[in-house]
Amino acid sequence: MYYDFFSSYNSFMECKMILPKEVLACIELLEKNGKEAYVVGGAIRSFLLGHEIHDYDLTTNALPEEMHQIFLEEKVIDTGLKHGTLTVIKNHLPIEITTYRKDTTYLDHRHPDEVIFTTSLEEDLKRRDFTMNAIAYHPTKGFIDPFEGRMDIEKGYIRTVGNPSQRFEEDALRILRALRFSSELGFTIEEETSSTIHQKKEDLQYISMERIQMEWMRLLLGKNVEHVLKNYKDVFEIFLPEFKKYSMEEWDSIISILPTTSQNFPIRFSILLTSIKVYLPSSFYRRLKFSNALKKEIKTFLEYANHPVDTTISLRLLCGKMERMILPYLEYRCALNPSLNKKELQEEVQRILREDTYCLKQLKINGNDLISLGLQGPKIQETLDALLDAVIHNKCLNEYEALLDYYKTSLISDNKL
Ligand code: ATP
Ligand code: MG
Repeated sequence: MYYDFFSSYNSFMECKMILPKEVLACIELLEKNGKEAYVVGGAIRSFLLGHEIHDYDLTTNALPEEMHQIFLEEKVIDTGLKHGTLTVIKNHLPIEITTYRKDTTYLDHRHPDEVIFTTSLEEDLKRRDFTMNAIAYHPTKGFIDPFEGRMDIEKGYIRTVGNPSQRFEEDALRILRALRFSSELGFTIEEETSSTIHQKKEDLQYISMERIQMEWMRLLLGKNVEHVLKNYKDVFEIFLPEFKKYSMEEWDSIISILPTTSQNFPIRFSILLTSIKVYLPSSFYRRLKFSNALKKEIKTFLEYANHPVDTTISLRLLCGKMERMILPYLEYRCALNPSLNKKELQEEVQRILREDTYCLKQLKINGNDLISLGLQGPKIQETLDALLDAVIHNKCLNEYEALLDYYKTSLISDNKL
């Protein structure tokens, strides 16, 4: 599958891409109906880079209603038929098929004012964001590469198709896509494209936070993340103005930690926020439109950023608070504090999770037991919490009789409750 970068241009044009039979079947069906179809976009880029291909996009001159007719017998999802996109599912492989489109005006910097279909493949390739994403492939006609995307892939360059100012003005999300691709692929953003990104960054304010997040999350996980964050801090400040709190020196030191962690978004984003967490208003998470689970994870990491981790008791308390987040949390702590012994901490936490008591549901006494002792209302929860605390702090064994005894002798007699 791997294409040799250093082979000649002719061998590139003759080079064959082996396509899954499901993709070939879609192309054949469109052609049987008198239409054209090509593989386009990320699949070609990945093929030329020797990377695994995750999904296939096809581009065709069939109009949406024609596509609908042609794939009537197939399992399809109407991804956005009025914009010309249909997803065909074949043997569980989703194949996104889009009608050739051309660029129109974009008054809002994010949506074309109208979708105009075209019969020209070249025009469709011209409206695509970067040269590396504007190559088409056909199983018998080979590669169609009008903007020399293959050469840019070979050099590791991200370059807009056409004038960068105009392309970023049309759709400002392309700014973030360029940075995300640079982080993921380790590519350099070509000079004019790069300087235009700095000039046009303000246009990101027109883009919805949901679309920004999708790119930002992938960007943070890329292998080139440090380089991209270093060179485009001003761009990220448009949607994360909190980063303005960092001097360039502080920023450089924080971002250098990221490549040392696994590719985990909550870990990496929490690292970027740790030193400014006291300044984060409650609206911060709402503004970022994170899922509740993501919000909870990042908030918890930040809240416990300085919690002790040096004793079994402190780790038990953390296991109770963190539940399934405990191992990523340890990674977050160790990344920020390299003097911590990560392996030892992980082993101790694994042991606690296996053998120790650290949460209420493990307690060998429950609410009903306390009710039968005559407790009522909030006292029940308070007593359970106090008993768990005693077990965690080695003051009492987690056994029914021992807990009952501790309740009677320590909690009632000391009037702790
Ligand atoms: P990946 O799937 O890894 O994100 P991709 O290149 O397949 O990479 P998609 O977002 O799936 O990216 O888009 C498919 C293709 O559609 C791109 O390769 C590009 O040609 C085009 N495209 C996507 N978004 C834009 C955009 N905002 N402006 C112009 N063209 C775009
Ligand atoms: Mg894709």
